Amino acid sequence: MQAFGTLESNVRLYSRSFPTFFSRARGSIMLTEDGRKVIDFFAGAGALNYGHNNHGIKAAITEYLASDAVVHGLDMATPAKLKFMETFSSVILRERGLKYRFQFTGPTGANAIEAALKLSRKVTGRQNIISFTHGYHGLSLGAVAASGNRFHRKASGVSLSGVTFMPYDGYFGPAVDTADYMRKVLLDMGSGIDSPAAILVESVQGEGGINVANKEWLQSIQAIAKETDALFIVDDVQMGCGRTGEFFSFEFAGLSPDIVVLSKSVSGYGLPLSVLLIKEEVDAWQPGEHTGTFRGNNLALVSATAAINIYWRNQIFSQSVHRTGELMRRRLDAISLKHGNSFAVRGRGMALGFDCQMAEIAEATAHTAFEKGLIIERCGPVGQVIKFLPALTIDSETLIQGLEAFEESLAETLNKLAPLP
Ligand SMILES: *Cc1c(COP(=O)(O)O)cnc(C)c1O
Repeated sequence: MQAFGTLESNVRLYSRSFPTFFSRARGSIMLTEDGRKVIDFFAGAGALNYGHNNHGIKAAITEYLASDAVVHGLDMATPAKLKFMETFSSVILRERGLKYRFQFTGPTGANAIEAALKLSRKVTGRQNIISFTHGYHGLSLGAVAASGNRFHRKASGVSLSGVTFMPYDGYFGPAVDTADYMRKVLLDMGSGIDSPAAILVESVQGEGGINVANKEWLQSIQAIAKETDALFIVDDVQMGCGRTGEFFSFEFAGLSPDIVVLSKSVSGYGLPLSVLLIKEEVDAWQPGEHTGTFRGNNLALVSATAAINIYWRNQIFSQSVHRTGELMRRRLDAISLKHGNSFAVRGRGMALGFDCQMAEIAEATAHTAFEKGLIIERCGPVGQVIKFLPALTIDSETLIQGLEAFEESLAETLNKLAPLP
């Protein structure tokens, strides 16, 4: 491990929280080089919804590789790309009454966000993007300008502009409907807030602390976008691909965004792939206006197609995500109750947060959990929320084992910080 301190930049992050060599992985278990088994409740920050090295998906890509089919082809036409678009259109979109064109951006979520913001500004001729408190959209300059976290904003080193932040659902507690405030200032010619090119929202804020927007609020936000002639963009990079139970995180509210941003789990295998879904009427791009060397990598498109074919052709997978999510929530609620209900449990589907209120508690708990063989990460503005993001395919035995390790780690932490008499 020491070599990483000299060879790799100081910028490395996760190898500090989880200081060991990971050599192999399958499903929700990672193996360390010294033979430890670690349960993964982080799933590549949501890039591994179908688990590590999912064997069904792996079969599709090994076959593709063995056949010498085109892996890198810039954005040239390939059968693999056509198959992905056709499969996604018929299995995911048509079933949900949605119709989109596909834009393959550079492979990061941040690059897809850049493309969505550029396109909105181009379509509307306006600059201002509405984003939300505690929102996270990636760390390239355009994307970080729309992200709330001060630590990340400061690291950009330049002034970030073109974005106005509005209070997310629940920002002032349950009594205040922040959509009312937003509608008022966006429709008021004298509010000082420029007409928006787009409203960019996450239906559950992943990095921001697992903050959940309710259905009516999201519907209001979409309506406000219409009323102000702004595009409505849902960033489904982390909460899409089944994380909240349905394929898209906004389905439960019946939304129809102008642009949907997908990345993280869309390839199904942890391969880098980002996709914008754009309504035909806003597809105002000139050829090559947003380009890049690595767009729509064919290997990732093959794994993405396999994931859809395996998991999304019927309701069974979605139902199991809901069931597992409920089990997780009951268990986390019970843990909170054990400690006098002083912790808040939030989330939807299999994206859950356990708000420790204090970063110190969350940090020590995650640290202890790793010693017990569990990977959990923290989120929220100061890292005070423990984030539960296991693979959607996790078996119940591994899930319960992980939750027990968390429960013990929390109890030990609380006892250490405020020892029982
Ligand atoms: C991770 C994430 C991004 C950025 O994706 P990268 O691939 O890390 O650039 C954008 N939006 C949301 C909601 C994310 O969770």
